[in-house]
Amino acid sequence: MFQSNILPEAFARAFQELPPESIWEWADTNVWLVSKDAAEAGPYRSVKTPWTRRLQEVARELVMPCWSWGRGEWIWVQVVEYTAMKASQAGLSEAALNIIRWHCKYDPCNVLYGIDTREEAKNIVDRLIPSLADIDPTIFTGDDDDVGTYVARLRDMVIWFIGSFSTGKYANKQTPLRVLDEIEEHGAKNTVREMASRGKTSEDGLQINLSKPKLANGPIHKAYQRGNQEHYFFRCPSCGHVQWPSFFEQTIETVMDFQNLLEVRHPSGRTVLLPTPYPEGQRRTITTSQIVFDHCRTPLGEWDKLRILDESYLSCSSCKHRIDEPAKRSLMQTAWWMPTSHGSPGSISQQISDLFSSDRASSIGHLVLDYLDAKKEGGDGIAKFYNHRLGLPFANEVNTTKEADILANIAGASEGDTCQPYRRGVVPFVPRALVLGADVGGNYAKWSLGAVGDNLEDVAIIDWGEEIDPSSIADIINSKTWPGPDGKPFRISCGFIDAKFRKSDVYKACLAVPGRRLIPTAGLGGAAARSVKAWSYHQVPTYQRNLKELTYNDRDAKDTLYIAGLKKRRFRIWFPTDVGQDAEFVAELCAEELLRDEDGRTRWNDRPGANHYGDCVKDIITGLRFLTRKQQLGTSPQPVSEG
Ligand SMILES: [Zn+2]
Repeated sequence: MFQSNILPEAFARAFQELPPESIWEWADTNVWLVSKDAAEAGPYRSVKTPWTRRLQEVARELVMPCWSWGRGEWIWVQVVEYTAMKASQAGLSEAALNIIRWHCKYDPCNVLYGIDTREEAKNIVDRLIPSLADIDPTIFTGDDDDVGTYVARLRDMVIWFIGSFSTGKYANKQTPLRVLDEIEEHGAKNTVREMASRGKTSEDGLQINLSKPKLANGPIHKAYQRGNQEHYFFRCPSCGHVQWPSFFEQTIETVMDFQNLLEVRHPSGRTVLLPTPYPEGQRRTITTSQIVFDHCRTPLGEWDKLRILDESYLSCSSCKHRIDEPAKRSLMQTAWWMPTSHGSPGSISQQISDLFSSDRASSIGHLVLDYLDAKKEGGDGIAKFYNHRLGLPFANEVNTTKEADILANIAGASEGDTCQPYRRGVVPFVPRALVLGADVGGNYAKWSLGAVGDNLEDVAIIDWGEEIDPSSIADIINSKTWPGPDGKPFRISCGFIDAKFRKSDVYKACLAVPGRRLIPTAGLGGAAARSVKAWSYHQVPTYQRNLKELTYNDRDAKDTLYIAGLKKRRFRIWFPTDVGQDAEFVAELCAEELLRDEDGRTRWNDRPGANHYGDCVKDIITGLRFLTRKQQLGTSPQPVSEG
């Protein structure tokens, strides 16, 4: 039954002007938090979680920047989805509640609030309802029965609290505002999409997805990757480098330039800073800031917890400037969100870590102590540290090599490369040595050839190939040459050949090369590796002829090649400009994965895919390290005197 005296009031509200300030500004003066936990009670203050202001702005001004390739500029498109992959104490739930509070007061609309358990739903209701009474008692219909535990019927709107405890009941509700809190806990894989389908009929709707992540490619991580992947950037107070706070140093491929910012006009009139996208298809590698604490030790080298609390700092990724806790706190007050990916238009996604927080328990030093405790717990502890403290998904893959990593190591691809670009088959500089690595299997003998640079560490991979028998490898060393920069040919100084399979063929091949210049090798893994130092060079047992074999720690050798070399570039492994034309070579260099086991220890996958060329290059790098350690490497690669 309509009550005629209510209608005019409802119309009046429908036509009233909305207040000009943003939701967080309104909340700063109007929201009083009520909590059983006295620590949280008191006026809402957005200054404690300034990174949540963006969401509260977006909820009223439903636009986001999107790069228009056609126009070559940032334009503004409608937002339909906001995703936060967040740490535990990110303040996002309260920000979402502010949006609901504001709608209750000024712009009623139906709301769906998804939460994992009955208890959590009750919790949210207890935080929301008393604060509404404080804002405006007329928000309530006056009928006490209308505020139940899982549904709140308010003035001109209804809020449904749903979760795994209440599936299926709300399929037909039209809800322009949907909040999905702690998605990863809901269990249902498709919750995000199911919720989105509920908003289809309403225009101008917004879906807010909030969750701590769990594993890489879980529901919140997927939603994050669908969006524009915003990070919370600050400017280094010393050098001005623009970066985001990161606990671990990460090397990341990016499609935007954050050092060349564009001032872009927001539809509301204010100006925002946005990155300059690189031309389509172009990527660059950047390094993030990181927390530094390794110096915080006692005189005997143990961790010094007091020093960790006082002296850990955030290190600028560019000038290594020390940003201490107070400096970090003030930087977080002026930090701003920028996208790092083009994503799907309409989808904003953000990653939020406890490094943003000014809570004492989230200070840089406390985070480091948490991390060290987590390390003691092993895999589960580390995973929780990633999820709860850094707002990052945890991946069991610690390191993989991708085609992009190989292409990024093409000579001349990075600024400051000391090796000129070259094509396969050509020695790009006068080498200190040409070193061959070979991997032998049942019906193949693959090889790869490296030119050693002046520092005796850097190697340019100049050629590779596949033979059938180990004896062909001996022939290559004995007879083949490669042209240097001025066309003069170079011979191979020495080679290393894996002797795991077809042992006697391999030994025969080694003896066919004069001067012990083809050395059989064996990488030792597992328990055997633990007893091996870096390597050992010893007489082959049961072999009459004078033949020595090199055994090495396979784990160390892979760490050196794939992580120190290809990923972190502590020394360089260069590839020719046309390396991408041989898909097999590239794929075999990308087969190895460093995994983390249940105890948190890392190990290289025992069963990688075909990795033969990877093993060839591994033998070059390991062999070179062996030679230089023994100081046996002379200047043996003389140009060949006559053809
Ligand atoms: Zn700096």
